[in-house]
Amino acid sequence: MLASSTKYLIIGAGIHGLSTAYHLALELKNRGLGSGKDILVIDKSGIAAGASGIACGVVRNNYFQPAMRELMSHSVDVWESDPKAYSYHAVGYMQISPEVMQANIATIYEQQKAIGYPSEFIEGAADSMKYMRGLFDDWQAKGITSVLHEKKGGFSNNKKAMQGLAAKAESE
Ligand SMILES: Cc1cc2nc3c(=O)[nH]c(=O)nc-3n(C[C@H](O)[C@H](O)[C@H](O)COP(=O)(O)OP(=O)(O)OC[C@H]3O[C@@H](n4cnc5c(N)ncnc54)[C@H](O)[C@@H]3O)c2cc1C
Repeated sequence: MLASSTKYLIIGAGIHGLSTAYHLALELKNRGLGSGKDILVIDKSGIAAGASGIACGVVRNNYFQPAMRELMSHSVDVWESDPKAYSYHAVGYMQISPEVMQANIATIYEQQKAIGYPSEFIEGAADSMKYMRGLFDDWQAKGITSVLHEKKGGFSNNKKAMQGLAAKAESE
């Protein structure tokens, strides 16, 4: 039942709702304006019932919109801040592409370089094959003309990550 005194009601216990609850609780405390007791999170089903529970769990800085670059870099830092709670595996991320994508991926690489986000960009079919074979000696994929290797990022186990985030929110 909803408490009539609830000051902040957050609808949806996905990554956005839980993160909002966690950070709002921290901010209220820091500013002396209240605490997590003022916040209630509700969900029509449960924690991670929506997209957050079925996402592939890929953590990367690879979306095409330039405006995303710094935001994604910040987000990767959040995943890295508590790998255990977020069930995060920092294995890096690779964008292995055919020629039709090469020019676009090159712009992502340039933007990453500009903000100091660590990555390597290999161009050309022969060099791409050599790079991939250096990592996997049985690599065989054909038609690859570029490899963007992000040294940060990786993947997380989505439901475990949401449980971890929910626990952080609840602890506040
Ligand atoms: C198949 C798939 C793969 C993806 N893969 C990735 C990936 O690899 N990496 C990545 O970064 N992003 C990925 N995404 C995107 C990512 O999952 C979403 O951007 C993110 O989970 C959205 O979080 P959210 O909290 O906004 O929404 P949700 O996780 O959907 O949370 C919304 C919550 O609100 C609840 N709700 C809805 N309506 C109501 C209501 N009326 N009353 C009460 N509760 C309600 C739902 O039950 C749900 O729990 C993927 C998305 C999908 C669908």
